[in-house]
Amino acid sequence: MGDRSMYTKAVHAGDDHSSHYGALSVPIYPASVFAFTDADEGAAIHNEEKDGYYYGRLGNPTQRALETAVAELENTDAALALASGMAAVSAAIFTLVKSGEHIVAPQSMYATTTNFLHHLKERFDIETTFVDATNAENYRAAIQPNTKLFWIETPTNPLVLVTDIEAVTAIAREHGIATVADNTFATPFNQRPCELGVDAVIHSATKYLGGHSDLTAGVLVGKSEVVESARHGANKFYGGNIAPQVAWLVIRGIKTLALRMERHNSNAFAIANMLGDHPKVEAVYYPGLESHPNHEIAKRQMPGGYGGMIGLDLGTVEAGKIFANSVRLCTLATSLGGVETILQHSASMTHATISREDRLKAGITDGLIRLSVGVEDVNDLIDDLTQALDKI
Ligand SMILES: *Cc1c(COP(=O)(O)O)cnc(C)c1O
Repeated sequence: MGDRSMYTKAVHAGDDHSSHYGALSVPIYPASVFAFTDADEGAAIHNEEKDGYYYGRLGNPTQRALETAVAELENTDAALALASGMAAVSAAIFTLVKSGEHIVAPQSMYATTTNFLHHLKERFDIETTFVDATNAENYRAAIQPNTKLFWIETPTNPLVLVTDIEAVTAIAREHGIATVADNTFATPFNQRPCELGVDAVIHSATKYLGGHSDLTAGVLVGKSEVVESARHGANKFYGGNIAPQVAWLVIRGIKTLALRMERHNSNAFAIANMLGDHPKVEAVYYPGLESHPNHEIAKRQMPGGYGGMIGLDLGTVEAGKIFANSVRLCTLATSLGGVETILQHSASMTHATISREDRLKAGITDGLIRLSVGVEDVNDLIDDLTQALDKI
């Protein structure tokens, strides 16, 4: 299905009716143990000479259906589905880097990934240099003799910054360094980093792939050597396997991924433009706006659209709070990627426990709002956001 549209792929990726008695919807296999026909077969499956299942932590037909689907959507070799986005982040890093080695990563990105990299330094002597990833050359400048991995996240959480994936992977290839991209914000509908040269992609499937704010899951997807070594290493040792029931829910979410993303993209584009023209809004961050510093790169590497995530700055903590307290249709919550529009005021929510100085260093200004635009009617959303802005 290589050349089919993403709309078709989202519906049919991973289809394998004949393996499941013709069932159109892949069955949920709630099995932790699988029987062998005889001892020789048991040995062959254990040795990976024969394809098959034997123990729940190491795979399941429902999990495999999800993996096949995501690998097709990202247009790459293989995938490993896991229990959360962070299980995918840690599986990728533990597969590609060991003690005494070095990583280069964005200075502004998903905060738990940043904290995990600090944890790796403290506990495992794996050091990370954090760079301004909006300029690919900063990755080159940070290379050390022991650099093994360039971590990319684009667009980033929460400032929607954009990294030039092709430029970073080109530098990595020159130096034999692996590359992984967190593609959670864009999804394969908007952007396919494996086509641009990265070795692997991770997803928090909790967000857009699942799409309904009703599950926690993750996927590592990319070149077979990375994915299979994660499957038989990090996943086997540290656990973090996905439950078959959850894998099924992600598959169900993916069926409408293209439809949902088309709407997330068009709603967010209209709302970003409205916010850009509003006198109460000091700044809007959205890769689809010409005012975005890396708009030209986003235009090139995000052929499907610019996504549903918008950052907006209302200037002060007070203004941010008034706005957050005034929305009626939009919901105050910290996640993203669901069908419903949710927003958070970082200074009084996710970043309330850190000092103002550290928060500002991370680019989280006093009045920053992160908006995850849902698939509701755009005029209803604009009405709600406008009445909340009017209260400031
Ligand atoms: C949510 C998120 C993660 C972590 O995913 P979980 O499913 O919460 O473990 C990683 N990266 C990004 C960009 C995210 O938004």
